Amino acid sequence: MPFALHVNAERWHRHLRTFAQATTGLVPVIKGNGYGFGRDLLAAEVGDLGLDMITVGTYPEVPGALDAFAGDVMVLTPWRPFFTDVTYDARVIHTVGRIADVEALAAAPTGTRVVVEGETSMSRHGFDRHELAAAVQALGTLEVAGFAIHLPLAGLGNNLDEAQSWAAVLETSQLETTTMFVSHLTPGEYAVLRELRPNLTIRPRIGTSLWLGDLGAIRARATVLDIHNVGRGERIGYRQRPMPRDGYLLIVAGGTSHGIGLEAPKTASGIVQRGKSVARGGLEAAGFALSPFTIDGKQRWFAEPPHMQVSMLFLPASADPPAVGDWIDVAVRYTTVTFDSVDLL
Ligand SMILES: *Cc1c(COP(=O)(O)O)cnc(C)c1O
Repeated sequence: MPFALHVNAERWHRHLRTFAQATTGLVPVIKGNGYGFGRDLLAAEVGDLGLDMITVGTYPEVPGALDAFAGDVMVLTPWRPFFTDVTYDARVIHTVGRIADVEALAAAPTGTRVVVEGETSMSRHGFDRHELAAAVQALGTLEVAGFAIHLPLAGLGNNLDEAQSWAAVLETSQLETTTMFVSHLTPGEYAVLRELRPNLTIRPRIGTSLWLGDLGAIRARATVLDIHNVGRGERIGYRQRPMPRDGYLLIVAGGTSHGIGLEAPKTASGIVQRGKSVARGGLEAAGFALSPFTIDGKQRWFAEPPHMQVSMLFLPASADPPAVGDWIDVAVRYTTVTFDSVDLL
């Protein structure tokens, strides 16, 4: 397929196994675009690793997760009474963080399971520590699968104190659980927290460093679909922009529908900046934007902004052009890209 994620399956699986073995209580996070791999593929991997639980981001992601994975499915987005797409199932664990929601959810079918979330310095969702007692009162017959905290990424490596103080809150609370789901500590911090709180079961919720923890095992690649000779001044594309020099125009797989070029291109702005660019001799000065595609060892320029399914790149005559059908490398942000295919090689 034209715009693909190539996975060195043996190397990637080795990384997944090593990571899972080294991470006691691991709960893999599988949300959004499935970190570039797609959620179903990742869910199947978790089954192979023999783990008992995954975490998804939203309720629309739940039915697919229940189909693709045999264990429990926790939902990161907290339950709200106005959600119309909630799946109630013995394997689904809902997140709660407001008294009113706990009261409303208490009317759900018996056996409905929840994690009670604390509002950390992240300030995204969760109960203030002073609300926990009231939350416990409101739980009724809801089954508590654990307590959860989500810590900021900016503090990665400095989150231990906050995690430790929430662990103390959990241990002194009336919540009927000793399981604490924790997001965003370092491996060392998880180990220390376990030592400090031996009566708690600490369960790390991890996505990125599991799925994307060995970037050498994966490669985003695009197929060259067409190549044309162009002369300096020749006009091309939707915008009929003149080409800056003699060279090649390459049409490659991967456009805005795949998530290519969605970040604002860093074009030169202001006279000083433009002057610097001219001094560097870059095409930036002529208003061209650098593309994420690499050809003949260099990152190449967009000939014009990317289209839905393809991008047009300018390659100077001095470069060694690829052939139609060749694969080229492309730098992507794995959490926002959509591949035509994921190929386990
Ligand atoms: C996305 C998310 C995670 C996983 O984050 P990574 O940085 O991908 O490991 C964990 N917890 C919560 C609450 C999240 O939203």
